[in-house]
Amino acid sequence: MRQDGPSKPQVFISLRYKFTLALLVGSMFSTVLIIGIAYARLKRKFDDLVLQSAVQSFRQDVSSYFHTYGSWEEAQRREDFPSFSDRRRQKVGMPVIRGLDRAVWLEGKNELEMEPLESVTPQVVAENLRRPPFRFYLFDPQKRALLPLEPYRVGEPMHPGKHERLLPIESDGRVVAYFSPEGSICYSDLDLGYLAAMREAMIYGSGIAMLLTLGLGLTLGSKLSADLRRLTVAIEAMEQGELKQHVVVHSRDEVDVLAKAFNRMSEELTRSHEEVRQANEQVRQQTEQLKELSVRDELTKLHNRRFFDEQAEALFEQAVRYERPFTVAIGDIDFFKRINDNFSHALGDEVLRRVSEILRSQVRAVDVLARYGGEEFVIAFPETPLRQAVAVCERLGKDIREYAWCDLDPDLHVTMSMGVCGDSHIGSFEAMLKAADTLLYRAKALGRDRVCVDEPEG
Ligand code: GH3
Ligand code: MG
Ligand code: MG
Repeated sequence: MRQDGPSKPQVFISLRYKFTLALLVGSMFSTVLIIGIAYARLKRKFDDLVLQSAVQSFRQDVSSYFHTYGSWEEAQRREDFPSFSDRRRQKVGMPVIRGLDRAVWLEGKNELEMEPLESVTPQVVAENLRRPPFRFYLFDPQKRALLPLEPYRVGEPMHPGKHERLLPIESDGRVVAYFSPEGSICYSDLDLGYLAAMREAMIYGSGIAMLLTLGLGLTLGSKLSADLRRLTVAIEAMEQGELKQHVVVHSRDEVDVLAKAFNRMSEELTRSHEEVRQANEQVRQQTEQLKELSVRDELTKLHNRRFFDEQAEALFEQAVRYERPFTVAIGDIDFFKRINDNFSHALGDEVLRRVSEILRSQVRAVDVLARYGGEEFVIAFPETPLRQAVAVCERLGKDIREYAWCDLDPDLHVTMSMGVCGDSHIGSFEAMLKAADTLLYRAKALGRDRVCVDEPEG
């Protein structure tokens, strides 16, 4: 079973910032990588060129040294090699790096300029002179050292296997010496200036690239998050119950696909929700109709006995509890069997309908009127004292008696006998109804077409 741990508070970070951050980190990483590789390759190329140039110059220096003085020994007696090399370079116009100048990258002009160093002392100059780009081991054809350079003294044989890049130097068509470039590059100030300018350009380039990425990230992120925001707002509105939503997305991407699917879903949901609502309404109406039918009498459309018993019982309880007047009346059409027999059953039905109409027209909305069965009717009068209810019943008897029954048949006469009980202290509603029924029978016995009550008349 999966156990969910305590939920951590989630920090909401906008997609816009996530997107920008991702772009920025990506671009920073790739810029640093590209610039690092480019710088390393450029520097290697630069170092190769410096080495080639140094090798070339040294080879020419030595070759010329031999050519000028015939042999190394003779040359050594006449002029030491560094002085010769210096002099030769000056003569052929080659640059001699003396440490007097410094290369400066001019921002505005985008070029390098040599700037004199005012604070340069003679010691610095001498140091620079002793600091060639490379140190060269020089050997004679028998591989004995010609220049005193650690670990060799002059005349000491070359250590076997130590110098893999041993290069020959020719003078007047013969190999006069071998040399080997060793050590790391000591850059001249000019070289350092070039490298610094190169680094600076790359740093500026990467800065501009990152700024562009930042702008691009913010723009794209804003657009993406704006589209998603619209979608989120619509979903939240839907959650609140507003099912009909339509989201417009201006991009052609997954968010657009998502929005279209969402819009379709919203329409579908709205439609099915409306269908369910209509079905519910229909069920509600049908239930209402069924309920109504279950409490109505088919023929007269008056309430039926079941409804009356429920309602009147409740009214009785209320009247007893609050000691309010409450009266019940039962009416029965006189000699109804004869009507059926003498005229027709259909006419009997019509008489029942019309009597119901007369009763309905007289009772108040708060009274409960029902066809209790056959040609029997009941009325419950809440908040009505006996005398008032009797008056209503008398009027009803009169209305039925005086109704224009001749419309149905010239010989037709209809009357009703009624029993009325207003004694709600009798104990129960059934007892009240029974008392009213007894009074009805008394009315029948007394000759019909009358209202009987327990109360002495007058
Ligand atoms: P009384 O004055 O004593 O009440 O005599 P009555 O003839 O009215 O009483 P009785 O109980 O003898 O007859 C009632 C008749 O009512 C019998 C029955 O066929 C008729 N009846 C009951 N329900 C209906 C109905 O829905 N339609 C019609 N046409 N007749 C009905
Ligand atoms: Mg009857
Ligand atoms: Mg009857």
